[in-house]
Amino acid sequence: MLSDDCVFCKIIKGQIPSTKVYEDEKMLVFKDIEPKANVHLLAVPKDHFKLLSQMDEIRAQTLSYMLAKIPQIAAQNGCANGYRLVINQGDDAGQTVFHLHIHILGGENLPW
Ligand code: 5GP
Ligand code: ZN
Repeated sequence: MLSDDCVFCKIIKGQIPSTKVYEDEKMLVFKDIEPKANVHLLAVPKDHFKLLSQMDEIRAQTLSYMLAKIPQIAAQNGCANGYRLVINQGDDAGQTVFHLHIHILGGENLPW
């Protein structure tokens, strides 16, 4: 299920433009609008839920599916030499978009 008032759901529905690098029936990967590394992609499930803390068995299956796809997607998009995956959970992590997403950061020797 997608949400009407979520920026990533709007990107999934094509209501907000994005630079997509991979899409299938379960997930979408697109470029972050404010990249924090030479390569900064966001991988999102095509199912709206806000937080990693809302994980359940079905959602965990989707996350597992995404993790199985990400290495090839990353390698094909400038991260053949390595990358970092990040999930921000909640306010202390600085989460700003409340639709679960995995940051894929790479394309350089990450400075932190
Ligand atoms: P968070 O801090 O919630 O983990 O990360 C949200 C990320 O989404 C940020 O890196 C931010 O730059 C990115 N972002 C927010 N709005 C948009 C948008 O409309 N389009 C794209 N491509 N990225 C966005
Ligand atoms: Zn959403």
